[in-house]
Parts: sequence; structure tokens; C-alpha cells
Amino acid sequence: MKILIWDKMIEGKILTMCCVCKKIKINDEFDLWLKREDNSVLYNRFINKFGERVSDGYCPEDLEKAMEEVKQYKLDKKK
Ligand SMILES: [Zn+2]
Repeated sequence: MKILIWDKMIEGKILTMCCVCKKIKINDEFDLWLKREDNSVLYNRFINKFGERVSDGYCPEDLEKAMEEVKQYKLDKKK
């Protein structure tokens, strides 16, 4: 997978990190997420670039899992 990084795009933005698996969102347009294990150099580059500007979020997989848990929770409550 070819990933292009435009420093300009990153300026003033906040990095989204999945609060479950610590994946970071590296491209909004294509909704690309990166695991540290997959490319630690690139991962660290993003972390360094954003510094403190990191917000918690959910990657698509964990969002789905979280939604599933909420659904299950609601179902359990109804019983
Ligand atoms: Zn995740």
C-alpha cells in the first residue's frame, strides 16, 4: 500500500487514535488506519508530528465491536 504524506495536510489537525487497539488514523479521505506493528517508523513519525494533538476514537473494526456491545447490552437489559 502506497501512503502519501503531505505535511501541509497534517498542519493544524488532530490525530485520531483508537482507544482500544492504538491504531492511528493516517488518512481521513480514505479512512486509513495504521498499527504500530505494521510500520513503526511511519507510526512514530505521525506521533512525533502531532505531539499532544491526539484525540481518542475508534477505528472501524473497534467501532463495529463497540456498537455490537451496545446492541448486546440493550438486548440484555430487555430480558
Ligand atoms: Zn481499534
